[in-house]
Amino acid sequence: MVDLSREERNYQKRRRARRRRLKRRRAMLISVMVLLLLLFIWGIVSLVRAVFFREPVDPASIVMPDWVDVQLLDINPYSRPGTPLETINGIVVHYTANPGTTAQQNRNYFNSLAEQNGESATSVSSHFIIGLEGEIIQCIPLSEISYASNDRNGDTVSIECCHPDSSGKFTDATYSSLVRLCAWLENQLDLNERSLLRHYDVTGKLCPLYFVEHESEWNAFKEDVAEKRKDVS
Ligand SMILES: [Zn+2]
Repeated sequence: MVDLSREERNYQKRRRARRRRLKRRRAMLISVMVLLLLLFIWGIVSLVRAVFFREPVDPASIVMPDWVDVQLLDINPYSRPGTPLETINGIVVHYTANPGTTAQQNRNYFNSLAEQNGESATSVSSHFIIGLEGEIIQCIPLSEISYASNDRNGDTVSIECCHPDSSGKFTDATYSSLVRLCAWLENQLDLNERSLLRHYDVTGKLCPLYFVEHESEWNAFKEDVAEKRKDVS
């Protein structure tokens, strides 16, 4: 009798121990599953944020490199209204449509618009102008709007490019500087390749003419910018 009850007690003991082990295992399994679920949710949320909710860069925080010649326009209603540009979502490329003119001449023209008065006043400008020799003049700070890209003035940076003739084709020097500036801006502003636009993409205007008439050249240009982003400084 004594032996049996001892066996019974041992049996009960082992059962309890087994139950405790099972309970512990189950609790551990549930913890791991909850942890994996939380990791999964965190991953999805991060992915959605990265893809759809880019943290915009404050344009005012960007310092221009020494290869940009900063010649800001005087603040005036016709070319530099001083309106804040808080978020930059795109870069719009233009051509001057004025063959043979230099970056300096175009910059001075924008600045001379300040002298206008009357009803037939012209309002036009651009953040940057790239000259025939590849020189880059900045006319307007990145933290202010320019008058270049119609509906997109409020969230884009504009770049005017000089060209030697009516075909609108850029010189190699202008082209290289444009690639460099766009790559640098995209890196600084944390923009992706979809941010590159022609004025044509905004309004249908034939600007920049050569890139509108030669779609493949425009696509090649975008590829050159993507490549340049790896080592632009
Ligand atoms: Zn244009």
